[in-house]
Amino acid sequence: MDKLTDCKRCGSNACYEQHINEQLTTWLCMGCGFTTSTVMTEDGQATKNALEASPELYKDLLHKDEDGHIWMPATVTLPAKGMVFIDGSTKENWKWTAVKAAPILQEEKHKYPEGQTHKMDMKGAKHFSQRDFMDALEVIGFYEM
Ligand SMILES: [Zn+2]
Repeated sequence: MDKLTDCKRCGSNACYEQHINEQLTTWLCMGCGFTTSTVMTEDGQATKNALEASPELYKDLLHKDEDGHIWMPATVTLPAKGMVFIDGSTKENWKWTAVKAAPILQEEKHKYPEGQTHKMDMKGAKHFSQRDFMDALEVIGFYEM
């Protein structure tokens, strides 16, 4: 059961709510590009794990909502299509980056793990302002899914 709801971080009404099971609900806001879930609480293990795997900038951008859920910038990866993530130096100075996936050529196959068919084309990265998460998603064909 998925629905659109109001984002508890930015107030946009394009926050995608997904009920995974009785204990777990996740939110991904199309307005601000931030994400959280019912297990992303201030001292929760899920939050610690997520932060350990994230660059420092993500830690600076954390937002706690009125329910105590911790929001962080989303990283969207569509294996054969591309990735959207944030890139920047400070809390104020960052952008969304969209990178398309490109097929790995025969002559460069040795550089990648066995079976991997696509690489992220970092040279062709496109940058979008903080309000344009949805435009960044469009670059990687998110809406065609
Ligand atoms: Zn939002």
